[in-house]
Amino acid sequence: MKSMTCQQLGGPCNLSHHGSTADEVIKAQDKHLREAVSGGDQAHESALKEMKGRWKHPVAGMGWYRKAKRDFADLPEG
Ligand SMILES: [Zn+2]
Repeated sequence: MKSMTCQQLGGPCNLSHHGSTADEVIKAQDKHLREAVSGGDQAHESALKEMKGRWKHPVAGMGWYRKAKRDFADLPEG
């Protein structure tokens, strides 16, 4: 298991997501952003907008996705 914070994934807070693959933490971040915003947290709105934009424009979003995967791969296990 590795962990990445909301911040490392482009968000505003230090909540960490745990997962064994980058996809897992990216999905956890997506869920976290949605929950934060639907709970009225404005700080997460721009990050959620960016995340949604990535799903809508997969080619443009691929650079971010690759970077997140690379960052995840570089993390120490723990
Ligand atoms: Zn957050």
